[in-house]
Amino acid sequence: MCEESVHFCNIIQAMAPHRRRDRPPAFAATFVEDPLTGKTSELQRVQPYQARKEYVCPGCNQEIRPGTGHVVIVPMGQPDLRRHWHTPCQLRAARHGLR
Ligand SMILES: [Zn+2]
Repeated sequence: MCEESVHFCNIIQAMAPHRRRDRPPAFAATFVEDPLTGKTSELQRVQPYQARKEYVCPGCNQEIRPGTGHVVIVPMGQPDLRRHWHTPCQLRAARHGLR
């Protein structure tokens, strides 16, 4: 519950209209295949200042510490299956699959 609302707030802040219009949108959607489910998923980048909680990366089973920039993989239509990944772990899994 709490995590969801914090995440939502971060997105709203990032999309705030005070940004210059000639900049690309901060949250332009990038779609990738989720290595865990095989589903088309939205890749969201989490900036270090947005990372306020600890997560366990499914790529390496190590913690993602607060303040670490990382990515979130959100399967289309199943946002409750989203997982936080270290950026390099997600890239490796996208290229080579999980081992
Ligand atoms: Zn990792």
